Amino acid sequence: MHALPLRLIREIPPRLLWRFLVGAGLGNLRAINRFERRRRQGVYFPPFIFTSVTQRCNLTCKGCWATGVREPVDMSPELLHAIVTESRAQGCRFFGILGGEPLLLPWLPDFFDRHRDTYFQLFTNGQLLDGQVAARLRRAGNVSPLISVEGGADAYADRRGDGLAYGRALDALARCREQGLVTGVATSVSASTFADVVSERFVDDMAARGAHYLWYYIYRPSGPVPGFEEALSDAQVRALRRFLLEQRARCKSLVIIDAYWDHDGNALCPAATGISHHINVHGEVEPCPPVQCADCRVEPGRVAARVAGSPLLAAFRAEVPRLTRGCVLMDHPRELAELAGRCGARDSSGRGTFFRELAERPALRCHDHGGEPLPERAWAYRFAKKHWFFGFGAYG
Ligand code: SF4
Repeated sequence: MHALPLRLIREIPPRLLWRFLVGAGLGNLRAINRFERRRRQGVYFPPFIFTSVTQRCNLTCKGCWATGVREPVDMSPELLHAIVTESRAQGCRFFGILGGEPLLLPWLPDFFDRHRDTYFQLFTNGQLLDGQVAARLRRAGNVSPLISVEGGADAYADRRGDGLAYGRALDALARCREQGLVTGVATSVSASTFADVVSERFVDDMAARGAHYLWYYIYRPSGPVPGFEEALSDAQVRALRRFLLEQRARCKSLVIIDAYWDHDGNALCPAATGISHHINVHGEVEPCPPVQCADCRVEPGRVAARVAGSPLLAAFRAEVPRLTRGCVLMDHPRELAELAGRCGARDSSGRGTFFRELAERPALRCHDHGGEPLPERAWAYRFAKKHWFFGFGAYG
């Protein structure tokens, strides 16, 4: 299989490749520069915004924070427009679009089309990403689908309640490939999918099926059916970290991404660095998608001011690094509840049970694994993490 640069030139139409390089490449670098300048002046607005556009989903996955919502609703196109345009004014060029399942919103491809000066990463389970939708995304030219592939068919039957969903996710990958889209695969590694996805075979298979990047997440038990038994052990987290380093050195046909460790291999929390936050369907601003509490809500004309003025986000940045380098939701749930309470944050989960869930969570291991840090070996990845993504000194 060809190396990634050659694959991109051969597989992606020039218009889409240009949009990707400008939107997701140069655009992000500029956004991070602006973030750095603001940060030095004590003003925080993240360079990356993740926003959930619907609470509806066509799958029911164990451990998902988006499930169990009593009356699921969609974000209005007007609110999404305000989030995108007002964040653009702060330098943001790249938005993560999450759900629920975003493709349940029929207006979304048109929305992408109307915001061609912006680049979107579409987090999707792929179930609705057929040839027509893929062609629509190609026309817009500014979307990279990030398709969840969670182990094999057995894992789907068990965790997502639908064994056929696996085949549909792979079909979606094929449709994106046919349309020449820059496409990613996201996989959240749990105890039961570890053997399937932490394997050379999985990496090569995803590349052969058309993925240009592969994003590994660590399973964060959340929602009404958290599945704590699926959390990784410390030995598995360390093995995953080693695997990512090896695969980056071995496999040149796709990029392997993680957002858990800096260039030296020290654990970090993206929300605690201030580099990204999440806005839910109601406009409530959460530190990140599974930490479902908020003390402010954005609305048209008040996006930047509300995010920058949030006491919860400020306390998160100041206090979480003192508690952990890892994931505060996983290893200090009680302290997280206390911090949120002090800031007057409300439950924003739509279930009304987030704080009870926090109180009942066991403290779990997360990506701040035991033993010595395992530094990046691939020079390009090391450089990017050090200079562009995680060199902000959030941990003193
Ligand atoms: S709190 Fe945990 S899930 Fe949220 S950004 Fe930090 S590490 Fe990730």
